[in-house]
Amino acid sequence: MDNTTKEKQSNSGAADIRQIIQPMGFELEEEQLVCLDKYLVELERANATTNLISYRDKKELVLKHVADSLMLLKDSDIMKTIPAVCLDIGSGGGFPGVPLCIVSKDISVTLLEATHKKTQFLESIIKSVGLGNCHVLWGRAEEFGRDAAHREKYDFVFARALGDLSTVLELALPFLKVGGCLIAHRGHELMREIDAAGAALKELHGQVEEHVSYQLPGLDHERFVVRVRKTAVTPEIYPRRSGMPAKRPL
Ligand code: SAH
Repeated sequence: MDNTTKEKQSNSGAADIRQIIQPMGFELEEEQLVCLDKYLVELERANATTNLISYRDKKELVLKHVADSLMLLKDSDIMKTIPAVCLDIGSGGGFPGVPLCIVSKDISVTLLEATHKKTQFLESIIKSVGLGNCHVLWGRAEEFGRDAAHREKYDFVFARALGDLSTVLELALPFLKVGGCLIAHRGHELMREIDAAGAALKELHGQVEEHVSYQLPGLDHERFVVRVRKTAVTPEIYPRRSGMPAKRPL
């Protein structure tokens, strides 16, 4: 394939992304769309050998993963805190951290991921897309959450598809500065989960401040983004040792 053909294909990829996300209120610049397209092309290629993400077709990939990640930018708190220092726990193939870094240069996101193959992919994406505001950490949240270089250092923590709300709270809150927020994607069971997470919220000094519900066009489940503010320093015993937050949620 010659370069002109490649360029045309990449432009048409960017145009497709624009068409899917514009109705959701995301007005992106051409350069951002081209970067998103490049990311998705490489993600699809890597997904053939490493299990990074599940989707049926390109439209679903853009809608269910890219647009869904960008929903976090609708949280007014992120845009008020500039530059915001953020952590994406269990980033997998890069959602939500990579699309957020592509679309907003006002935030920096560290992608924390336990699986080495996934962090290798994330490193390669950062290089090829040229994301100076994105960094990768390979390891478990239970361990980095005890590391002084990361504990109580972040303005925002993101977590998408990482586990129960109580588990996510135990993994996320140690990383936040007091006054910082966990902004997490949740499914339609959010209200039941908030009730069940009463003890975790109390122990870890988290306060549910807001939850916003939304639907992605053509997909029927109601989705939520919940914002939990950290109101005091996390007790030293948290997070518990690796595996415990998921095995025995608070
Ligand atoms: N956030 C991505 C991936 C979700 S799958 C998305 O929305 O598509 C959950 C990911 O979290 C997996 O890649 C898994 O390896 C990682 N993970 C699970 N527990 C973890 C932990 N304790 N610390 C770091 N990463 C973890």
